[in-house]
Amino acid sequence: MQYVPFGKHGFDVSRLGFGCMRLPTVKDGDRDVIDREKAIGMIRHGIDEGITYVDTAYPYHGGESEIVVGLALKEGYRDKVTLTTKLPVWAVNEEKDMNRLLDEQLKKLDVPYVDFYLLHAMDKSRMDKMQAFHYKDFFKQAVKDGRVKHPGFSFHDDCDTFLRILHDYDDWGMAQIQFNYLDDEEQAGVKGLREAGKCGVPLVIMEPLRGGALANPPQNVKDLMEANPHKRSAVEWAFAYIADYPEVATILSGMSTPEQLDDNLRIFDKLTVGGMTEEDRAFAKELKKAYLSRMPVKCTGCQYCQPCPQNVHIPDIFHGYNQSKMFEQQGRFINNYRGQIERGFDASQCVQCGACEAACPQHLSIIDWLQTIDREYHEIVK
Ligand code: SF4
Ligand code: SF4
Repeated sequence: MQYVPFGKHGFDVSRLGFGCMRLPTVKDGDRDVIDREKAIGMIRHGIDEGITYVDTAYPYHGGESEIVVGLALKEGYRDKVTLTTKLPVWAVNEEKDMNRLLDEQLKKLDVPYVDFYLLHAMDKSRMDKMQAFHYKDFFKQAVKDGRVKHPGFSFHDDCDTFLRILHDYDDWGMAQIQFNYLDDEEQAGVKGLREAGKCGVPLVIMEPLRGGALANPPQNVKDLMEANPHKRSAVEWAFAYIADYPEVATILSGMSTPEQLDDNLRIFDKLTVGGMTEEDRAFAKELKKAYLSRMPVKCTGCQYCQPCPQNVHIPDIFHGYNQSKMFEQQGRFINNYRGQIERGFDASQCVQCGACEAACPQHLSIIDWLQTIDREYHEIVK
């Protein structure tokens, strides 16, 4: 296992972090619940093999993740790791809720404090809310009374919003962002990552495999990887790309099986900062290009075509369709489009007024694409 300094906090962290949002599950009647014995075994095995960062959150596994993480960290394991959980910002309706939720989470984890407490899944509107609720006063108090060592935030929005949050508070101890070689210009992206580095805020990376999609590439991407002299696996390329950035402290992987854990431990034995050559970086760009070449509708998601007078959710429909083609996941398209139909946002609502095409900076034939997608859906499900 490789280790790097966790920003300026004065301790090191393993480059592989244990994300506890996809722990192994079993059926309990109709419900999926965590397979506690297996999950605890995996977390402890990961720590025994060198993982020193464990990450959970209030909503993971319907609230069960924090309890299981607490159980896994008993018998001396708590002292071996940096522990993070997150405030469910959406559940905060008044200022005192922040204290109440933190206390509830510490109780579930059965620990007196967490090393990092993050504002969860921050975006524009959640930042407005946290500012209105004086989040800095809350953190100041929680650090002072010892329940939290360092404040932080996890993030899902555009880069401008990332920079706004980053620069709003001098005491951020870390930021958690979605980052991988496909998303280098999405959300915080490389720009946000570099700025965090300049501010001395270490980064923890989530979705390094895009929810697992980068682990199972389509044929054109596989062909490129097979032709590359390194012979890295799809997972190795994804992790190596991120580990190369010095701003990145640890990379979270949500592991569901002992095999995935062992595979990750093997990969992270070799990953180092600056471990990619110029040729490797150029190759990662080629991989991205190969994925994007599979995107049939060149929609950038700019939203200029919205709102449609008929309520057709054009960018969402295109996004679901593109993703299914990029990752060869037909089921994802079907589920996504079925949801649009159920809510009355689908292409069949279109009356061909043309307003969206006039507004689209990419000059897309939106009406034709909507008809194509609608037809494809009905051919698949008939
Ligand atoms: S052409 Fe169809 S999708 Fe576009 S704005 Fe008009 S009704 Fe909406
Ligand atoms: S205006 Fe065009 S590019 Fe922008 S979201 Fe709509 S369809 Fe996509």
